[in-house]
Amino acid sequence: MEKLAIKGGKPCRDTNSNPWPKWPVWGKEEEVALIEVLNSGVWSYNGPKEMEFNQLFAEFTGTKFSICTVNGTITMQLALEALGIGVGDEVIVPGITWQATAATVIDVNATPILVDVLEDTWCIDPVAIEKAITPKTKAIIPVHLYGAFADMDAIMEIAKKHNLYVIEDCAHKHGGEWKGKKAGSIGDVGSFSFQLSKHLTAGEGGSMTTDDADLAEKLDALRNVGRRPEGDSLIGADKGIGDYGDDGNFIQSGNFRITEFQAAMLIEGLKRLPEQNANRDANGAYLNTLLKELPGVTPLKRDDRETKKAYFNFAFRYDQSKFNNLPIDKFRAALEAELGIIVDACYEPLNNCSLYVPHTKPARHKLNESYWAAIDPKRFSLPVSERIFEKESVCLHHKILMGTKADMDLIARAIQKVYDNAESLF
Ligand SMILES: *Cc1c(COP(=O)(O)O)cnc(C)c1O
Repeated sequence: MEKLAIKGGKPCRDTNSNPWPKWPVWGKEEEVALIEVLNSGVWSYNGPKEMEFNQLFAEFTGTKFSICTVNGTITMQLALEALGIGVGDEVIVPGITWQATAATVIDVNATPILVDVLEDTWCIDPVAIEKAITPKTKAIIPVHLYGAFADMDAIMEIAKKHNLYVIEDCAHKHGGEWKGKKAGSIGDVGSFSFQLSKHLTAGEGGSMTTDDADLAEKLDALRNVGRRPEGDSLIGADKGIGDYGDDGNFIQSGNFRITEFQAAMLIEGLKRLPEQNANRDANGAYLNTLLKELPGVTPLKRDDRETKKAYFNFAFRYDQSKFNNLPIDKFRAALEAELGIIVDACYEPLNNCSLYVPHTKPARHKLNESYWAAIDPKRFSLPVSERIFEKESVCLHHKILMGTKADMDLIARAIQKVYDNAESLF
């Protein structure tokens, strides 16, 4: 029997001699582009790089308009504001997601309604959405989580039936495709993050995509102190570069503009993304086939309606009963030692999430007693989300998918090794 690395044995991967692929990825192209921006003196404010990236990202997502802004949190806040959602409104969000998906809803004074997820994709459960709808419901924010895609057929049907808006949280899905339609082009607005961990990054940043010209005009104004884009000047896939007037605000807002340095990074990163996505997809699909053969682990479902895959972190499910009842944290720690890379749980369910605590800020969120009660995350029951988080979720950074098939074989071998030696961990 082999000794587990966590018990002092030899790890499956020696990351000193054989490191995992690096993230982020950059090259000479970024260096040149950044220096070009530096020397131009045009460092912000609707500059040529920003306009170019907006156009490229609209084309990439198959939408008419793409507007970049500071991050993938503000994207959702501005989408809610552009759709006129606020006081008195309810917005349905999944129980497992980054806290921003719900936090932006309270930041526009609306009420997040947390609903459960599906156990095989960890994405929002359409049946739970229907059950949560009330006369106050205005929108749904599905999240395409990790490697999966929310069931957009069911969600769009519910939205149509109940006259609701859909904001797609695409922070994990740059380039993913559902029945030939790109993530971010299916709902009313797509919300993207370019934070450092995401698979298109400028360190920080975000984009909002839409086909609706009126919405695009509002989104553009909202990220730019409420200034109306002049006349015909809004940037879309089919429009040119315009100039912006200073003819007064048409909507109240703040400054959420990005810099030309970020836009330059995003233009270069976007050139690399299709090939990176294809490689992560091939490796992810292969690793899924390996996981299917292993005892006690199950890959997340790859929906046939996903015509193009875009992996963020690679996630799979753990079955404690098949591992002699070994608690999942011990499994993750042992696997981490074998692989030399962090092995995480999924996001904490939002009804008990250390980063989603609206009641810590009464001066901002205590609009009245009934609202205060309505935004208490603990009032929502999320049994599937809780079970996934506590007992089933195993998540690996997407850089593990950026190498070779041999890396996938190694991951499978490491899981098998932990399985074979599970008793030594008790
Ligand atoms: C990262 C992330 C966000 C927020 O994006 P930031 O750019 O970090 O603000 C929103 N939703 C999900 C699902 C994310 O993973």
